[in-house]
Amino acid sequence: MTQVLFDYTRQDAQGDSCTAHAWAKVPAPLNPSQRQALKARAAELLRQHNAVLVAHYYVDGDLQDLALETGGIVSDSLEMARFGRDHAAQTLVVAGVRFMGESAKILSPEKRVLMPDLDATCSLDLGCPADEFAAFCNAHPDRQVVVYANTSAAVKARADWMVTSSCALEIVADLHAKGQKILWAPDRHLGRYIQEQTGADMLMWNGACIVHDEFKGLELDLLLEQHPGAMVLVHPESPKSVVDKADVVGSTSALIKAVVEGTAQEYIVATDNGILHRMRQLAPGKTLIEAPTAGNSATCKSCAHCPWMAMNGLQNLVDCLEQGLGEIHIEEAIRVEALGCIDRMLDFTAALKVRQAQAQAPVPAAGSLVPGIGAA
Ligand code: SF4
Repeated sequence: MTQVLFDYTRQDAQGDSCTAHAWAKVPAPLNPSQRQALKARAAELLRQHNAVLVAHYYVDGDLQDLALETGGIVSDSLEMARFGRDHAAQTLVVAGVRFMGESAKILSPEKRVLMPDLDATCSLDLGCPADEFAAFCNAHPDRQVVVYANTSAAVKARADWMVTSSCALEIVADLHAKGQKILWAPDRHLGRYIQEQTGADMLMWNGACIVHDEFKGLELDLLLEQHPGAMVLVHPESPKSVVDKADVVGSTSALIKAVVEGTAQEYIVATDNGILHRMRQLAPGKTLIEAPTAGNSATCKSCAHCPWMAMNGLQNLVDCLEQGLGEIHIEEAIRVEALGCIDRMLDFTAALKVRQAQAQAPVPAAGSLVPGIGAA
């Protein structure tokens, strides 16, 4: 069951593309000595401020390297949220987009959460305004409200569950098995994929990611003719025509794992091309090919790179630490409401990990001892 409701705003009041403001704020490329100097300065500031850098796979490679070199993390949004919550640092610097900074603040209200540019947003977040969403939920009180991480704190405050692409399938499958009907928001492609996989009764919002929405199934067919042995890795925010050709569909972490563990030499990657930096580091001998979008001569707004992720740079990272800029603030009542759906997801994924570990553990031989329990 699908209901079309709200898409992201494709133009601003002046008629400019929704991404024009973001592209205009993307930092200019730096030369090697500038990069080195800024990285050293940022590392020093992180240390001085008892801060840790929490970066997403889609941001600039220098920021990813800096995070790893200074004891931070490069990860998907689920791991970013967990890492920030559990780390002892008093300041979290989130290199990613705004909903990631908000999630960090929701989970760690006692910590200062900074971002290099607070204007870094997401078309999924933009396309799901809290008031319209609340009205949609109110009209369907019989459904569990499941929202993707890429939403504002106010939208999460209205939800029963938050999910990321790492755990969405498992959580919806579990709710479906318990007989629950679902109201899903905001990504229509991820929602459709989960609906197909689980058979759940899902009523859907009509959002999309401007990066993944532009991958093209027909062009992918043509590319595969040139690379018949390539493995196709697809993020589920992509359209069905692309997902249907995938060898692996999964979160950013799952796609990286597929490259590292895969036996193929070539990989066609349908997600933001910022991920290639980490893939190249972890699988240096493999050939990585960007999946086709509309192409350079056409009208793609992102061409496989998110302009909001690209707004994060070394200079604005240094500025935010030096000047305390870009701090995330969330109204306490909204934060507390939003915390419930994130905690529910974290509890679910922690329990799932335990179940998976138990399922993989070797079965003790008959008559042997299980520590703390006695004879099995
Ligand atoms: S890549 Fe897509 S989903 Fe991710 S932040 Fe950018 S617009 Fe949002």
